[in-house]
Amino acid sequence: KVRVRFAPSPTGGLHLGGVRTVLFNYLFAKKHNGEFILRIEDTDQTRYVEGAEQYILDCLAWCGLTPDESPVVGGPYSPYRQSERKPLYREYAEKLVAQGHAYYAFDTTEELDQKRKDVPNFQYGHGHRYDMRNSLNLPLHEVEQLLHDGTPHVIRIKMPEDDTINFNDMVRGYVSFETNQVDDKVLLKADGMPTYHLAVVVDDYLMKITHAFRGEEWLPSAPVHLLLWEYLGWKDEMPKWAHLPLILKPDGHGKLSKRDGARLGFPVYAMNWLDNKTGELTPGFRELGFLPEAFLNLLATLGWNDGTDQEIFTLDELIAKFSIERVSKAGAKFDFEKAKWFNAEWIKREGIESLKDKVKQVFEDKGIAVTNDDYLLSVIKLVKDRAVLLTDFYAQGAYFFEQPKEYDLNAVKPKWTDGKTEFFKALADKYAGSATWEAVDLETTFKVLTEEKGFKIGDVMLPFRIMLVGGKFGPHVFDIAALLGKDETLARIEKALE
Ligand code: GLU
Repeated sequence: KVRVRFAPSPTGGLHLGGVRTVLFNYLFAKKHNGEFILRIEDTDQTRYVEGAEQYILDCLAWCGLTPDESPVVGGPYSPYRQSERKPLYREYAEKLVAQGHAYYAFDTTEELDQKRKDVPNFQYGHGHRYDMRNSLNLPLHEVEQLLHDGTPHVIRIKMPEDDTINFNDMVRGYVSFETNQVDDKVLLKADGMPTYHLAVVVDDYLMKITHAFRGEEWLPSAPVHLLLWEYLGWKDEMPKWAHLPLILKPDGHGKLSKRDGARLGFPVYAMNWLDNKTGELTPGFRELGFLPEAFLNLLATLGWNDGTDQEIFTLDELIAKFSIERVSKAGAKFDFEKAKWFNAEWIKREGIESLKDKVKQVFEDKGIAVTNDDYLLSVIKLVKDRAVLLTDFYAQGAYFFEQPKEYDLNAVKPKWTDGKTEFFKALADKYAGSATWEAVDLETTFKVLTEEKGFKIGDVMLPFRIMLVGGKFGPHVFDIAALLGKDETLARIEKALE
């Protein structure tokens, strides 16, 4: 049975790449009638951020990617929050020590800092090793004495010397690492908490995970994890790995970062993320007016395609068509214009009923209380082809709810004539007396009068639009008048002529 997991650390908002990892996990699980598990990896207390777990849950709910097992719904392998599993991990770390694959390390922070300084140009994660093996040379009785005295210590994995570690990644194919390039990572910390490396392996094993999808940034950790699977005697049950391609900046130069969003004016988080330490608000796709369907659709195309030109996929289609073989190794450039295109397409496809509540919210956020649902539905129908973001329903449709505050009549002013004033007065009279209020009839009346008064249609049509809308935009002007109704249309003509 396929079992996959999304295993975020609650350290902040969930960005594009995080949600894409969720999506690929979900698609793979559903495609194979498997289970999708959410596990919260919160063993690093120093990086823990209040509210981040709730944010992750809200985000999955907004996207409709519901986990089958999670800290909230539970499941057969509870608990699903690693901090609550703390007592579980020590035994495995000690087993590794007993086998000689791990060791107690008593170095102080100051000692380690000094060791790092001894390595020229030391940088974490750049294949630089520093000597953390002091304690490895301690005679056994000394180690025992130190432990007996309660000396603070960690447990580190002992990386083999001069060896290579290989594995077959579902996305990247054959991958190989030199063990000399990899540090003796800490497995169990001084406070008894496991590190990510130990916890991820133990939990993937205990939770019977069959396939592990994660971002490419975790590739350098893979050799440590592989060794742990082997040393703990679980190699045959190791999940198949898939390291997903990075999401790149729009110009393709490097990994997309939160700062790029701020710099280039687009969201990188799924929903607004409010950092309660700094008070800084990073905008999200949801609040910017993206539909979750569009958001997921665009994420699916970041590093995957179905081999055809098809770009628009429903979640069900994605489940049917997704295959890990079609996930690319190369990083995927994020293009915000393309992201908006997806949203516009999805708004066009979405039924007016299902847009209703979302659009109502947009208006309410702008201080417009919508009281008549049928009227709102008609508005949505008229303007939905013009909306790229949900918030555009306000920009494109606010005039249906309030008279234009400012007119762009100035744009036609230089050409304004008394004749035109006469025309609109006559039009108002005709409209006032008309028995029907249908767009076609309004248009006919308008055209007949235009001819009678000797105008070209273009001379009077734009002013009419501006009277109703306030600007030179919007759908067919007679559709607008029809929907506004007689009283409102007449009132707007009158007001504009004042
Ligand atoms: N806790 C890791 C993270 O925050 C999970 C990486 C993995 O899936 O192994 O992304």
